Amino acid sequence: MAEAEWHRAYIGLGSNQQHPREQVIQALDALDRLPLTRLAGASRLYASAPVGPQDQPDFVNAVAELATRLSPLALLDQLQALEQRHGRRRLRHWGPRTLDLDLLLYDEAVIESPRLRVPHPEMAHRGFVLLPLAELAPTLRLPDGRCIAPLAEAMGSDDLRPLLP
Ligand code: ADP
Ligand code: MG
Repeated sequence: MAEAEWHRAYIGLGSNQQHPREQVIQALDALDRLPLTRLAGASRLYASAPVGPQDQPDFVNAVAELATRLSPLALLDQLQALEQRHGRRRLRHWGPRTLDLDLLLYDEAVIESPRLRVPHPEMAHRGFVLLPLAELAPTLRLPDGRCIAPLAEAMGSDDLRPLLP
């Protein structure tokens, strides 16, 4: 059974409401406590300008590495439940949110289902995903073979700054 095996998953975290830094720090801790899952690593925290509507606060972002025995959809269920526990309301597309948890990568899986697309379709265009991910796992590759580090380098870090601990 697939659930018996450990898998490696990368999660993109973002928050720009209700003390974003604390939201992200607490979420990292909560990821470590998910069933059949442990936190294997985390990037630094970064501040980034919002995607889409600009009339909202900057985001705090980070990327986490998980070792998990959950299937991709079971992990998505857990991530969405965690978003809800952090009081997430979906106000508008790309609008402010207390906590956004995106499943970026799950082993070398490619998943195209109505609820779940892996690799996350936007990740290769987003500096606030690629730079923390490259920091955490510089030799990582996307399922199509592209290496994360040069993708991150090509992105530039203009809209992104590491937060002091
Ligand atoms: P976004 O993160 O794109 O701003 P949401 O967090 O509101 O938007 O997610 C919208 C939907 O995206 C969710 O209902 C979820 O089912 C779907 N989704 C598809 N692929 C993924 C993924 N890789 N990680 C997280 N959610 C995903
Ligand atoms: Mg999301």
